[in-house]
Amino acid sequence: MQPDDFAPGMVWLVGAGPGDPELLTMKAVRLIERADIVFYDALVGDGVLALIPAGTEAISVGKRSARHSKDQRAIDAMLVDAAAAGRRVVRLKGGDPSIFGRSAEEVSALKNAGYAAHICPGITAACAAAASAGISLSLRGVARDVRFVTAHSKRGAALDIDWSSLAFGGSTLAFYMGRDAAGDIMRGLMRAGMSGTMPVMISCNVSGPDERRLATRLDLLELATGSFAADAPTLILVGDAIEQGGAAHIASATDARQIHE
Ligand code: SAH
Repeated sequence: MQPDDFAPGMVWLVGAGPGDPELLTMKAVRLIERADIVFYDALVGDGVLALIPAGTEAISVGKRSARHSKDQRAIDAMLVDAAAAGRRVVRLKGGDPSIFGRSAEEVSALKNAGYAAHICPGITAACAAAASAGISLSLRGVARDVRFVTAHSKRGAALDIDWSSLAFGGSTLAFYMGRDAAGDIMRGLMRAGMSGTMPVMISCNVSGPDERRLATRLDLLELATGSFAADAPTLILVGDAIEQGGAAHIASATDARQIHE
């Protein structure tokens, strides 16, 4: 611990992990406790927010993929203003700030205004989902790489994904923001040559008390995802390494329909 790593006017982008406050780093907890002001996303868990001391100003900037309640520029400006006012600023982000967290925009806005941003890493959803299911994302001889893929597209636009580079096999694919795009993911990968029997795991509200996960196969992905609440954060893992997972199993369209009931 460095005594002066959180002087007035400093900004920390802090990874809040997937939800369970016990998955925060000790550094994250210390920064949250020392901040004068905390800006947090919709995905940050209630248990993490409960660690913000009562006297600290806490501001929701509630971004959630499809419905942005504050646009990124407004958030950037709020961070700059708080730093300029000489406050100790924590910007709490779900998971890890460097994975689909728009941290680069915030870091560069601060830098352009003459303020340094510091980053405290967090546990990203894919790692937490694998841990809950008791599986490994990489697997010797099976999955030699792990790909973090965003399945979020601009409203109405097709997903801009190079499916052939993903369908090759030998990888574990982690799709973030893929709940609404499950059908496109399924079709994109299968058209690019991935087998319909490829193991898939769908995990929602990972690390929270209401975590749910389903193991299924690629050709049932769209059907199976339909059983998950539309607004719950949902991660989709695809690949042979996923097969080791312990989860409710859907092996046929009939199983998937029963889950809907
Ligand atoms: N920076 C975050 C990701 C932000 S993008 C991270 O590192 O985890 C938001 C997406 O992350 C969600 O749509 C979902 O796909 C995934 N996600 C985040 N938290 C999750 C959770 N607790 N359970 C399941 N998926 C989660």
